[in-house]
Amino acid sequence: MIRKTNQKKWIILAAAILLEAILITGTGRLFAGAGEAVESLSTEAYMEWAGDIPGSTGEIVDTNGEVLWSREFRGYGDTYSLVGELKDVPYAENTAALLMEGSLLHPEQYRAAEGADSLEGTGETVVLTIDRGLNEDIYQYMKDRQIRSGSALFMEAGTGKIRAAVSLPGAVPDGVEGLPEGALLNKNFLSVTPGSTMKIVTTLLLNELDEDLAHEKVRCDGRYERPAGDITCITQRGVHDIESAMGVSCNIYYGEQILQVLDPQADKSWEMLENMGFSREPEAKDVDGLICQGSSTDFDGSGSFSSTWSLIGQGQTQVSPVDMCRIVSAVVHDGRAPEAHLLETDKTAYTQMVSQENAGEVCQIWQNAYRAYYPAEEYHRDITVAKTGSAEHQDGVHKLLAGYIESSDMVFFIEVADYETSMVDPAEVAGEACRYLEQK
Ligand SMILES: [Zn+2]
Repeated sequence: MIRKTNQKKWIILAAAILLEAILITGTGRLFAGAGEAVESLSTEAYMEWAGDIPGSTGEIVDTNGEVLWSREFRGYGDTYSLVGELKDVPYAENTAALLMEGSLLHPEQYRAAEGADSLEGTGETVVLTIDRGLNEDIYQYMKDRQIRSGSALFMEAGTGKIRAAVSLPGAVPDGVEGLPEGALLNKNFLSVTPGSTMKIVTTLLLNELDEDLAHEKVRCDGRYERPAGDITCITQRGVHDIESAMGVSCNIYYGEQILQVLDPQADKSWEMLENMGFSREPEAKDVDGLICQGSSTDFDGSGSFSSTWSLIGQGQTQVSPVDMCRIVSAVVHDGRAPEAHLLETDKTAYTQMVSQENAGEVCQIWQNAYRAYYPAEEYHRDITVAKTGSAEHQDGVHKLLAGYIESSDMVFFIEVADYETSMVDPAEVAGEACRYLEQK
């Protein structure tokens, strides 16, 4: 719901904010198709704003009406990456990108260097789905725990409403001096290497395409030698079925099953992957008009190392946190995934992402795996299921966690990108959110 005016203007605003962040921070590999989308939005923007009364001021508020951004109020650290204007960010080194991309914009209406400020005069109040109390609590917790780079997305599984989209580092009141390029982009709308959280997706594929999955076992000796390249596993060795393999995240089990079950059914696998939001090349998507990176994987059924490795969650696979939250929603809600929302709305569209039967079975496998293999003392009792992941990056290991909190119908996807310095497990962040939600 948007008070006083229509939805289109917010869509433009959201797109403009993210686009500006992209332009200014110069994240190079972004988005096939984003330019085109922005061009058409900008044309609409030009038409709309031409009729605006100058001088009236817009506001952005959270789901409870708390002001997150206005002419007088420049935003909180925790929501800055959602609504902040970035004119204070040093961008001189990216002027070339601005000039190159700037031709897509109508400079009379939107000034990249001023960001959201240049949209003043619209007189609107835009209501976000964000619950600032939750957002701030998680943000503050992550900061207090010395996490300097990370993200936490919390979405209601039944409605698709994004209640928290925390991204670190933040800005205001901390300032932006010395931050690396792209640091202020809200990481929840950029795709990440999912690590073993990808095994949620692969389990859905296997359960759908392998009639005998429940009875199959694979021995893990830590290494699976193949001419195409060895697959290694550092977790608990021994004979695994799907539940224990998901529980200990056995790469050998999944590698073998991908080769035996999914490679011969690559077309069917891809149909399912597309339903879950994946494409073969990175593509731009939108969340209520906010342009964000989608999910992609180079699985091709060839049995190549890269293809197999991608469904284990490493290599070229990139997952959008928003997509991962939708996938977990489908698992816990009979295969139905809501579209994701950042704008308050009474209407949500759903897609049957996977069959009801598949979702139910995988939900059971996941719960059994979680209960048997995840240490209860490290996971808040309100967490219904969770799947860990870790992804190797040049700057060290990133730790990830996807999961569900049934008592508040909340799915989440968390990344701690500086695990090697902060040493904070994402489960601790999820636990903090549980404590907050419990008190509400
Ligand atoms: Zn293993």
